[in-house]
Amino acid sequence: MILHHIALNVPVSDGLFTYRHPTALPAGCRVAVPFRGKTVAGVVWASGVESSMAIEKILPVQTAFTDGAPLPESWRALIDFTARYYHYPTGQAVFAALPAGLKEPKPVGMPQPPLFYALNETGRAQTPPPERFRKQHALWQALFSDGLEMAALKRINNQAPKLVQEWAAQGWIHTSHAAAPKLNPSEHTLNAAQQAASQAVQAAAGTFQPFLLYGITGSGKTEVYFDVMAEVLAAGKQVLFLLPEINLTPQLLKRVQARFADVPAAVLHSQTAAGARAQDYLRAMLGQAKLVIGTRLSVFTPLPDIGLIVVDEEHDGSFKQDNELRYQARDLAVWRAKQSGCPIVLGSATPSLESWHKAQSGAYRLLELAERARAAAKLPQVEVLNVGRLKLDNGFSPQALKLLQQNYRQGGMSLVYLNRRGFAPALFCGDCGHTFGCPRCSAKMVLHQRARQLRCHHCDYRQSVPYKCPDCGNQDLTAVGQGTQRVEETLRALMPQAAVARVDRDSTTHKNDWADLYRRIAGNEIDVLVGTQMLAKGHDFARLNLVVVLNADGSLYSADFRAPERLFAELMQVSGRAGRAQTAGSVLIQTQLPEHPVFAAVKAQNYRIFAETELAERKLLNMPPFAFQTAIRADAAKVADAMDFLNGIKAVTEPLISENVSVFGPAPMFMVRLAERERAQVFLESPDRRSLHRAVSLWVQVLQQYRDGKIRWSVDVDPAEM
Ligand code: ADP
Ligand code: ZN
Repeated sequence: MILHHIALNVPVSDGLFTYRHPTALPAGCRVAVPFRGKTVAGVVWASGVESSMAIEKILPVQTAFTDGAPLPESWRALIDFTARYYHYPTGQAVFAALPAGLKEPKPVGMPQPPLFYALNETGRAQTPPPERFRKQHALWQALFSDGLEMAALKRINNQAPKLVQEWAAQGWIHTSHAAAPKLNPSEHTLNAAQQAASQAVQAAAGTFQPFLLYGITGSGKTEVYFDVMAEVLAAGKQVLFLLPEINLTPQLLKRVQARFADVPAAVLHSQTAAGARAQDYLRAMLGQAKLVIGTRLSVFTPLPDIGLIVVDEEHDGSFKQDNELRYQARDLAVWRAKQSGCPIVLGSATPSLESWHKAQSGAYRLLELAERARAAAKLPQVEVLNVGRLKLDNGFSPQALKLLQQNYRQGGMSLVYLNRRGFAPALFCGDCGHTFGCPRCSAKMVLHQRARQLRCHHCDYRQSVPYKCPDCGNQDLTAVGQGTQRVEETLRALMPQAAVARVDRDSTTHKNDWADLYRRIAGNEIDVLVGTQMLAKGHDFARLNLVVVLNADGSLYSADFRAPERLFAELMQVSGRAGRAQTAGSVLIQTQLPEHPVFAAVKAQNYRIFAETELAERKLLNMPPFAFQTAIRADAAKVADAMDFLNGIKAVTEPLISENVSVFGPAPMFMVRLAERERAQVFLESPDRRSLHRAVSLWVQVLQQYRDGKIRWSVDVDPAEM
């Protein structure tokens, strides 16, 4: 009997359990095993292991699915790393990384290798069908030059299956399982900056080298990715292309199709059906799919022969998973590139400050595209309007309303942009701009109107609301962060004839919603779009020439130190929407804080200005990327129980934690209630990753002793939200 460690999807210690089997099973093999009276799926993690348990107590593996290929070693190493880094049970990490179709204790059909058709020697010697039979002639030509799959041949001539069969019967056709993928040339010649960027990445082929491709919206980053991808695919290697869900649009896929029509590809996103997803996963694992495009989860796709990774819009928050296994796909992608010894390109118009910092320190190589690729495309004109002393109509200034009305009359399309993340209200001085930071830590304090208190959700410091500004004595302190209501009604009243469309999470839940919206926009059916950050990203609306931003200020004083970074990225992107085509667009930003550096940077359309000011501030306050954080959260029916729980663990662990790790809190979270539970959190912070990691391990060891079940806890390494 051989003993095996089997990874199971259960939240018990590391999720690895011992089972026996008459023969040694290969690591990575999927199995069915009995667990607590049920049959569950597992993955062999190690074989030939030892156990102190009596052999007759060890249960047997029920079925081993040995017909398909086992999950490869590089994939298991990735999962091991992920589990370790994010302090998550290995067994559960395995199952978080598998597509639904592979999580069942059932066999799966392995995808058939693709079949490529071409004319053989005899075939090539034949007279081709006459040119007047255009489609037959085209099919013959295609078979003459390359090996193509039937699907590709059908696109040339829908009679292809029948014709190829006839020609095969004549003995003219050769079939094979591998062919050099056929690539279409780009419709553009790359400009000098694009060339340089592409060359730099190509020169790094076969070695680990991270690049940060910083290029303003419309500067032609996508064309650079494609150019490098074409080289890598032509060499027969695989490419992993990660992008935010919202950018995985029909537009993007069409561009990929146009360029890489005949490259066997797998498109993985949350709306892919489970069965198809599993097949795509396996095709990638077997090296059949050469190009894998997908959202954060596809970072776990096994790829035996990876030659390049691209992460588009690398700053985007959706690369971080915010429940269960809380991983950051961009960071894991860099790890994978290192593991595979291949270049990785992180691209953005507004890079994350983490990546920018790495580029500044030389860990990443910076590539820059400073200009828009299409000569005609102009940068937008940005106006920052001080609304501090203005009377607003449901959030609109008179200037904004006038511009919107004018643009509608002249046939333009406008976007009214609402910044409506769950911001915590903050207090600030309208005269000198003073904000209220916590005296005990570096977080901003949150205004609790009803309790008349300022509270720190980082360390739980509380104080009553001051009646005057400690800096300038002004007694008129203002609250920021309130939302805007009735935007649509205001617009409809102003322009009853205009077509106003709202875009938010609710109106775009279905796959076809975006397609529908695009159709309406392309058909000139929409005059004003109203929406949140969903609209800021990646979409190309040619007719859009006016953007009005209603309430940017909430982010600037947010308790979440990353809020200004997100606001800046959104403002840059949303203003990048305007005037992508011939006409320069204009952007009006309403604010009570026109002097804030964020606005100067947006006005100049200059990320560097922003990054430098913001990084200097982060450094001063000892915040990421200059320090590392882990949040440990607990939830219970009552927040007091969650607080007690965390306080108890803090007391046990505190004497054992090294002195370069600070522990803040516990504090109730700002959004204390979620799904009937109340939440509190502790922050562990350190300038040294290893020390932090050891401290978190210690916490997790103690947390795992807890068995009551009334309190749930989780660990969030490198948390993105406060
Ligand atoms: P980004 O990804 O940086 O936003 P894109 O690659 O989407 O930029 O390019 C923006 C627009 O410019 C697209 O319409 C693209 O077709 C066009 N474009 C890109 N590179 C060139 C080029 N070298 N010459 C002409 N047009 C280009
Ligand atoms: Zn504090």
